[in-house]
Amino acid sequence: MNNEVLTSPNVDEQCVRSLTEDLLNRFSDANEQEFWGAQFDLGLARVESPRGCGGLDAEPALQRVIDLMLEAAGRLGTWKRNSMGIGMCGPTIVTWGTEAQKSRLLRPIFTAEEIWCQLFSEPGAGSDLASLATRAVRDGDEWTLNGQKVWTSRAHEATWGLLLARTDPDVPSRQGVTAFILQLAAPGVEIRPLRQMTGDSTFNEVWLTEVRVPDEMRVGPVGEGWKVGTTTLMNERVSIGGNSLVPQGRGPIAEPLELWARSPRKDPTKRTELAQLWIEAEVLRLLAYQAQARRQRGVPGPEGSLLKLGNALLRQRIGIFVVGLLGAAGTLCDYDLPSEELQLDPVIGFLGSRSRSLGGGTSEIMRNMLAERILGLPREPQIDPSTPWSQIPRS
Ligand SMILES: Cc1cc2nc3c(=O)[nH]c(=O)nc-3n(C[C@H](O)[C@H](O)[C@H](O)COP(=O)(O)OP(=O)(O)OC[C@H]3O[C@@H](n4cnc5c(N)ncnc54)[C@H](O)[C@@H]3O)c2cc1C
Repeated sequence: MNNEVLTSPNVDEQCVRSLTEDLLNRFSDANEQEFWGAQFDLGLARVESPRGCGGLDAEPALQRVIDLMLEAAGRLGTWKRNSMGIGMCGPTIVTWGTEAQKSRLLRPIFTAEEIWCQLFSEPGAGSDLASLATRAVRDGDEWTLNGQKVWTSRAHEATWGLLLARTDPDVPSRQGVTAFILQLAAPGVEIRPLRQMTGDSTFNEVWLTEVRVPDEMRVGPVGEGWKVGTTTLMNERVSIGGNSLVPQGRGPIAEPLELWARSPRKDPTKRTELAQLWIEAEVLRLLAYQAQARRQRGVPGPEGSLLKLGNALLRQRIGIFVVGLLGAAGTLCDYDLPSEELQLDPVIGFLGSRSRSLGGGTSEIMRNMLAERILGLPREPQIDPSTPWSQIPRS
């Protein structure tokens, strides 16, 4: 193992390649948990994070080099098991957390020993998140939380959740919010599953009644929770967009290509439709690389919102195309997968794709952002932002 590499201020591609090879050699017989722990300790979990936080202070693009090498060696990583922890809550703790929070919480996020969820949305606060009403009241070294969250993905399997609560109702909406880390097993937390049209139950209502949270589990200063939440949501968009950083023909377009190749009927109108989907997938793929390059130069562009919007539309159209291609079988939910390369039942994929224009910010909100920030169209009417939250009418 080359220790000089670890202390080098300039971590380049050659350096991460040699570290990854070293990881694969030294831990070839390790079980998954040990392997992922070693990956974190070597700074190969999220290279852009600081040393000690699973990273090497390196260019974010180098993560792809590591991930591809690990994938080729059959080490598939923990992303799918703990996507919100790795893609959103972990990076937020890196930015805003105390040293104690970082050393306690980051490693088990990456090894997926502790699953995370995001407790932002409420029945009256989705697109308009700033109107959230869950209350946190300080009581010595603790806070008491009361309220309700909704659409909380994976709350039923999570150990921890990143939560936004209102700590001061008498200041403007965004100023009176504070972020906390909630232990889902804490007394007073009730998790009620919500059934989706796919038949799955991946998200929940979470009710909070007199829940005690120690002040050491506050993230960032009191009243700065809006900024903490913005960090989380920006990371969410990056991780949604990051899924488009794939080789040509991979990602969402792989499924219709695979099904088309196996389909006995080659309807020419379907062929044209597939070609159009391929072009759109390719445009989004290239846009994702452009977004990444701009981020690295420190110029975040509008691509994040474009990618979110474009991917939602593309996935939904792919879903429709695929069930159309399956014909009558497309009406069955227990359809036999024609190939092991398909990871999801196409019909479930079609039903699930409907949610893509909601989760992570709706398509209408993405269009609003693009209209205002890129096209320079007038802002939509809104309440005077200096109005205290407690004086804003709500249902
Ligand atoms: C699969 C999935 C997983 C989710 N997981 C989580 C999670 O883990 N944690 C979490 O906190 N939340 C989660 N959410 C919630 C998600 O963030 C919200 O659904 C989303 O922000 C929209 O909020 P809402 O559902 O309250 O809809 P609303 O905000 O009530 O919107 C209803 C409709 O009105 C439109 N609309 C609202 N405001 C405007 C406007 N200003 N201009 C134009 N149209 C507008 C919307 O686009 C939408 O079509 C998840 C949602 C989904 C679908």
